[in-house]
Amino acid sequence: MTNPQEVAPGVWYLGLNVANVYFIGTRESWVVVDTCAPLNEGPILAAAEEVFGKGAKPAALFLTHAHFDHFGSAKGLLEHWGDVPVYGHRLDAPYLTGMDKTAPGDPTVGGFFAMAYRTFPKRQGTDLSKWFKTLPGSELVPGVTGWRWFHTPGHTPGHVSLWRESDRTLIAGDAVITVNLDSLANVIDKKPTVSRPPTPATPDWDSAIASVRFLAGLRPRTLVTGHGLPMFGDAAADGLAQLAQTIKRPEHGRYVHEAPIADEGGINYVPPPATDVLGIALGTIALGGLIAWVTHRQSAVKAISDTTVPVSSHTLRFERQDRADYQPAKVIETVVLVPKSEPPKTVHGVQLVPTNP
Ligand SMILES: [Zn+2]
Ligand SMILES: [Zn+2]
Repeated sequence: MTNPQEVAPGVWYLGLNVANVYFIGTRESWVVVDTCAPLNEGPILAAAEEVFGKGAKPAALFLTHAHFDHFGSAKGLLEHWGDVPVYGHRLDAPYLTGMDKTAPGDPTVGGFFAMAYRTFPKRQGTDLSKWFKTLPGSELVPGVTGWRWFHTPGHTPGHVSLWRESDRTLIAGDAVITVNLDSLANVIDKKPTVSRPPTPATPDWDSAIASVRFLAGLRPRTLVTGHGLPMFGDAAADGLAQLAQTIKRPEHGRYVHEAPIADEGGINYVPPPATDVLGIALGTIALGGLIAWVTHRQSAVKAISDTTVPVSSHTLRFERQDRADYQPAKVIETVVLVPKSEPPKTVHGVQLVPTNP
């Protein structure tokens, strides 16, 4: 089991596989900050009981933002604890109450996480409406004293960070993170590095950069985030200050020039998708494999008949042009290619036309 680690007085870090969870408070009153991806209820409950005692129940759950690696285990925990409220910002409320889903992620931004992101849900949301409450406008954090929440949008419209001024502790969610997810090397070595928010999941870069600069101005002594290890002292404050100076939006991708438009009702507009160069490359590799397989099959079939070659996909028209001046006139299940010496004709119900008439 992963053990919770006290990173500042009354602040526990629980590093789970996909994302981090935090507990803040005392045995009398404590809250859970973020809940990792689905199916982490067990480790979170075990860690909470280790810190606060058997059967301990929080005053509230608090979600920094509406991404599945942060709200994923919330429903299971709320069902377990019963009448505990979950708080989120009003601008992320649509994605936490089943009203809408977040703007789609963008796997075309490049970097390690963007590759992995292809397997993630593109638009994210959950329905916690039974327990959901909008954060109070006072910026106070319900259930604990000495803490404030700040609106730090960009990664999501309603992203919030938690701040305790007395010892300069910052829980920044994904507004900044302490691992560079664009770098596979850093994901493996885990060397704490103050980094911009996860690139494929950040659709509003003007806001995200402004949020990083705001958080840098706090000069935290303890910096903990949604992903990566805790950071302390000058490494935290200087690392964040340096990021604020150097942060850049990704060089390409769907949201480089334009952000989605969203409000309390959800998403109103998203920019069109960017060209997915890697997706095309992966598709080409898959096509190459298909062609190799079909070519192999064709050799076998050719041994039986020298004039007809059954293949399995319309994609074959690309590769057969060097061997026959024909391509299918329509997309079909079975393509029959004929030697170029033959005239136009219909074979097996398929109309064949010259590629270069
Ligand atoms: Zn996130
Ligand atoms: Zn995250």
